[in-house]
Amino acid sequence: MAESDALWQCDPFSWRWLVANQGANTKAGPFKAVAPSPKLTAAEALCARSAQELQGFIASIMNVLLIGSGGREHALAWKIAQSAQCTRLYCAPGNPGMLDMPAVMGGKGLADGPTSFAPVSQIALSEQAEILAFCSEQDIDLVVVGPEQPLVEGLADALRAQGFPVFGHDQAAAELEGSKAFAKDVMAEAGVPTAAYGSFDDPEAAKAFIRQQGAPIVVKADGLAAGKGVVVAESLDQALDAVDRLHKPGETLVVEAFLTGEEASYFVLVDGDEVLAFGSAQDHKRVGEGDTGENTGGMGAYTPAPIVSDAREQAILETIAKPIARTMKARGCPLRGVLFIGLMIDETKAGAEQIQVLEFNVRFGDPECQVLMLRLQSDLLPLLAAVANGKLADAPAPQWRDEAAITVIFANQGYPGSYEKGSTIAGLSDCPALVFHAGTAENEAGQIIATGGRVLAISALSPQLADAQALAYRGCAAIDWPQGFYRRDIAWRALKQPSP
Ligand code: ATP
Repeated sequence: MAESDALWQCDPFSWRWLVANQGANTKAGPFKAVAPSPKLTAAEALCARSAQELQGFIASIMNVLLIGSGGREHALAWKIAQSAQCTRLYCAPGNPGMLDMPAVMGGKGLADGPTSFAPVSQIALSEQAEILAFCSEQDIDLVVVGPEQPLVEGLADALRAQGFPVFGHDQAAAELEGSKAFAKDVMAEAGVPTAAYGSFDDPEAAKAFIRQQGAPIVVKADGLAAGKGVVVAESLDQALDAVDRLHKPGETLVVEAFLTGEEASYFVLVDGDEVLAFGSAQDHKRVGEGDTGENTGGMGAYTPAPIVSDAREQAILETIAKPIARTMKARGCPLRGVLFIGLMIDETKAGAEQIQVLEFNVRFGDPECQVLMLRLQSDLLPLLAAVANGKLADAPAPQWRDEAAITVIFANQGYPGSYEKGSTIAGLSDCPALVFHAGTAENEAGQIIATGGRVLAISALSPQLADAQALAYRGCAAIDWPQGFYRRDIAWRALKQPSP
């Protein structure tokens, strides 16, 4: 191609163009030809003034594989696909909402909403071997692992062993969520404030400890239990009964002191060494209004959490996040992904007792991720890549919209107990709020049907939390799904306080 010719390459799957311009930063003027690259086919519109600038851009663009299929992963997909650096996004196994993002979400609730989308595909992958083969075949530059289960099973280790950059912790680091006894040991070693506890392999020893401590007291099964492994016992009998129910032969029980206060979540990105603040949120775990009834995976969330003031944020970073990252590295299991810190904040207490850690998770929360992604103004993908490549120190800090975001979970009748699958959901295209799919599928007639317990996350953003809440509930009302239900009081606690 002659030096003076324009280099126009159009991605066959999207409308994006790449323009290399050696002259002024405009599409007119002399153009510089560059070496062909397979990734040029989907490059973002760009006016590069030099071949070097262009090569830098080409080096930064990525084919991304996102593992997971829930609302959290839909929100991640929505955000990643807006990145100028994303050439292709593959979601494994994904959900139908991810394929319909421009139509479902274009501009809704976002004044400066998404302007571009990388082509997104859904891929039926589940086994580690299939994922590894897919990454090689499709020239994947970054794997983002959404849920905890594949991390606990060692997916990130297997990918790293083959040289693929991964946003997600190795198996040994994922124990911070996979084993509550391990998390407690790490906290003790790091000097992180948390409830006093004991770990027991023998249920009788756990019962003796409970009798000695008295109620209220908290009994926890050591491993992953999807929200069903914790009993907050108000009486001694309840606590002793919980030991019988939660103990499985060969497994450990953690018994810990009952903490009072308000719960909040805080998120940091960690690349092994560096710790980057990633915001706060609060969720509603109980199924019923007024935070009553059974525990669920989460019925709604909002960000920021008013109780996490700037001063508390600093304390969380300095007294919890950084010591944990250092201790994990010193133990030979560095964190390389997101750390979700579940906190109990007791405003009646002072000093180290005020902010205590309830739990760690090694992934974004679901539904906290949905609200974080809505409120995040800057590009997510360079941060995920910086974590995966150990370059977080060079990454720009995330920029947040000066707004509040909320999400309301539309769940299947019966959840968190048993529920029916297959009911059809209509009205999604009329919904004024953003809809992240969590438990849906498409039937043969092309209709969206409910297949999970938590089915949709109806999400909105507004300068005032109360307005975001109103928009999300207008969104819920627009959806025609008689078999679904949602709580009508999401963010009640924050709305009693000054809005962010
Ligand atoms: P699972 O392992 O079943 O998925 P989880 O990881 O969600 O459970 P935690 O976050 O440790 O478990 O506990 C669940 C809930 O129990 C917390 O959100 C909190 O409401 C309550 N809880 C846990 N520990 C304490 C404590 N020490 N004091 C008071 N409440 C607690």
